[in-house]
This record gives sequence, C-alpha cells and structure tokens, in this order.
Amino acid sequence: MIALSLAEIAAVVGGQTHDIPDPSVAVTGPVVRDSREVVPGSLFAAFVGERVDGHDYAPQVIGAGAVAVLASRPVGVPAIVVDDVQTALGALARHVVRRLGATLVALTGSAGKTSTKDLIAQVLQRKAPTVFTPGSLNNEIGLPLTALTATEETQFLVLEMGARGIGHIRYLTGLTPPRIGLVLNVGTAHIGEFGGREQIAQAKGELVEALPAADEGGAAILNADDPLVRAMASRTKAKVVLFGESAEADVRAENVRLTDSGQPSFRLLTPSGACDVTMRLYGEHHVSNALAAAAVAHELGMSAEEIATALSEAGSLSRWRMEVTERPDGVTIVNDAYNANPESMRAALRALAAMGKGRRTWAVLGKMAELGDEALAEHDAVGRLAVRLNVSKLVAVGGIEASWLQLGAYNEGSWGEESVHVSDAQAAIDLLRSELRPGDVVLVKASRSVGLESVAQALVETG
Ligand code: ATP
Ligand code: MG
Repeated sequence: MIALSLAEIAAVVGGQTHDIPDPSVAVTGPVVRDSREVVPGSLFAAFVGERVDGHDYAPQVIGAGAVAVLASRPVGVPAIVVDDVQTALGALARHVVRRLGATLVALTGSAGKTSTKDLIAQVLQRKAPTVFTPGSLNNEIGLPLTALTATEETQFLVLEMGARGIGHIRYLTGLTPPRIGLVLNVGTAHIGEFGGREQIAQAKGELVEALPAADEGGAAILNADDPLVRAMASRTKAKVVLFGESAEADVRAENVRLTDSGQPSFRLLTPSGACDVTMRLYGEHHVSNALAAAAVAHELGMSAEEIATALSEAGSLSRWRMEVTERPDGVTIVNDAYNANPESMRAALRALAAMGKGRRTWAVLGKMAELGDEALAEHDAVGRLAVRLNVSKLVAVGGIEASWLQLGAYNEGSWGEESVHVSDAQAAIDLLRSELRPGDVVLVKASRSVGLESVAQALVETG
C-alpha cells in the first residue's frame, strides 16, 4: 500500500484516533483482517464475526508490529475508531485508488471470474506492474483489501467483483471505479437467490453502467456469444468491445479445437492482428476466458503477438480449477473441485473426454448448488452428457442431486454398472482406490459446499 499517516487515514474514514501517541506515523501496509497476516507497518481491520471478534486480537497484532487497529470501539492500544469498519475500509480503498495512477479493470460474470482474472493479470503483467485479486476475494471486504495492496508502481489493478444480488456491483464500483469493465457471462450461479437469469443480468450489468464515457476512456468488454451480456451494450456510455466466437466480435477465435491433452488451441483475431494460441490450461471454457483477457489487453495497447504469447504461457494461479496431476502409475487426476455450475460441468466433461481419448475416463461428480427449480433438470442433463461424451464411469457423490445425475445417465444410455452412486467423499475414495488402473483419467468436480477436493487430494496421494 502507499504510505499514509494515521492522521490522514483517520480523516479519510471519519474516525477518532485513540491511544495513538504520534498520528504522523505511517501505515506502510498491508491492511489485513487476519491477525496471522500482520507484519510490521500493517493496519489491522477488526471485524466482529460470528465466532471471533477481531478486537480481541488488538494487543497481539500491535505486538506483531501493526501500527494501529481500525476498530469499532477503543481497544486500549493504538486505534482509529469508526462506526463501521467495512465502510471505513471502503472509504480508504476509494481514497487510495484515486491517488494512484493505475488503470482499474473490473470483471464479473457467473462463471470464470477468477480464471479470467488470473489470465488478465498474467497478460498485463508483461506490460507493466499489475496488482490483482488473490483467489476469489471479490466481495465488499476482499475488494478494498486487494485495492489497498496497490503501490505507486502499480499500473494495472485487476479486480474480481462478485454479485449475490441487485446493488452489490454498484456498491463495489463505487469503492474502486473501473475504467475497463468486463462481463463474462450470465449463467445460473446463485440463480436460487436472484430469482432468474434476467435478474442476474440486471445485477451484473451494473458494472458497465458505472464506467466512464467512451471519450473519457471507458471501455465495456462484453461477451458477444451471451445474449444477456451482449444486451448490456445499451446500458453503458463506455466504448463497447465485443469478444467471443461470433462473427461480430472485435476479438475473436477461429479454428477452435482441443488438443489431445484437452488444452484449447485457436487463432486469436484482434483488430490489430492475428496470432495462434495453444493454452496450458485445460478445458474449452478457457477460450472464452482467454478472448476476454485478450480484449482487455488489446484495449490497453498490447499487440496480438504479446497477448498470444502471454495466453499460451499462462498457468493457473488459483487452486482446484482443472488442476491436472499425472501420477507415477499413469493415472491422471483432474481436480476441478473448486466449484461447479451447469456451464462449467459441461466444459469440464468435454475436457475430460478430450484428455481421455483411448483411455478409461471417470467423472466423479457432486451436486451443483443454488439452482432453484432448475436443479433436477440440470443434474439430469449432466448425467446424460456424460453418457453422450462416452465417459467410461460416472461416480455420483452425495444426496438427492447425485441420484439425479445417475438417473440422467441411466435414462440416456441405459447405464447400469457404468454409474455408481456413493453417499460421501470417503466412499468415493475407497471405490476409486480399488478400481483405478494405470492410464485412467479422473475428473473430480462439484459445488464448493461438497468439498470434493478431498477426493482429488486423496487420489493424488495414493499414486
Ligand atoms: P466464484 O463465483 O466462486 O468466485 P468464479 O466466477 O471466479 O467463481 P472460477 O473460479 O474461475 O469462477 O471457476 C469456477 C468454475 O467454473 C471452475 O470449475 C471452472 O472450471 C469453471 N469455469 C471457468 N471459466 C468458465 C466459463 N467461461 N464458463 C463456464 N465455466 C467456467
Ligand atoms: Mg472467483
């Protein structure tokens, strides 16, 4: 973070200084909410959680070198006391990004935010110092904490923005106003909470409404292949840049295919030239993510060659997303257990099919959460797709949703022994440990709440 004195921070957040002998002392960063992350120079933000109260850690964090605590009550050690710590953090982030010269890039979407954010960061980093959201810290606390890690050197700040309802993105763009806004897709993630796709589009589109006008440099990067995203063009004053496979897109892919190892390969077409890309990441859904990243980078002045090289060399920066491990015995484990929705299930199954040509393939799948009324149909469809893609074995893990997966497979292909329903992760581990043979490829995927990474990890360790 840029160095700010406690006096300046207190003024920015409208707080009272308590037990601070010298308000001219500077916070040099980082701002953290986890006491274990405190280093000398930190500002510790004390949140009151359900189980722990950050204020209880005040003496400890000061002992560890924190300059002060951002708190909602005096704590007997140096503190800036505010009414609401979250609001104060937001105000501080807004103040800091205004002072920075960095270009802010924000992105949202139902699926692929983190994957795409990681791609954008790896592309932009080649041009200039880039700060980006670590992992999926995309909410009203994670976003300001990320923005506050930027320094004077930072040229690009890439921020993932999550929305669980109307007004969320508007709030986030108010804290860190982006110049470039990217919307990936409107899928079914959180559809249960939102009520429907239109509402999700309404909420995500708040990102493009917040952008500056085209003549002030604003650019809305929109997915031409997703009608609900494409339609957001009418909600922005910014310049519209389209990406996707559709012919009207400004940044497009041609000759898209999956290599035998399941990695997408395509010709990248940008307004300033074309170049071939073969990705290190797995799964065709990364084509769309890569085009989105390319559109952002093109908008920021990078050439097609630079972008294509960066995309071809980009790796995964976040765990459990199509993480491929080759076991010494020739079994391949694909850990995509971070999360799942119908779109990403389909993409992952297609990647499995491509990787598993001539090999025995296993889809170890659990439920896709938050699908509301569409849950049964969507699980059924995934079970059917596994059959159509010639997956060798389906292991459906968990409760009722797993039985819907299995039923889909049964109805599509009269699958009997090819699909198994097990009650929990341990049962899946036991089954796979005894059944896997050299050469098999195993995909493990479910919604976050299922925690299927334990299966992938156990299988990786078994080999
Ligand atoms: P979260 O809302 O949890 O932060 P996210 O939008 O950041 O999720 P990722 O973490 O990138 O998304 O990916 C989540 C899952 O979606 C992964 O399983 C990944 O394989 C899949 N996925 C990634 N990109 C796409 C895409 N363009 N379309 C569909 N699925 C995708
Ligand atoms: Mg994410």
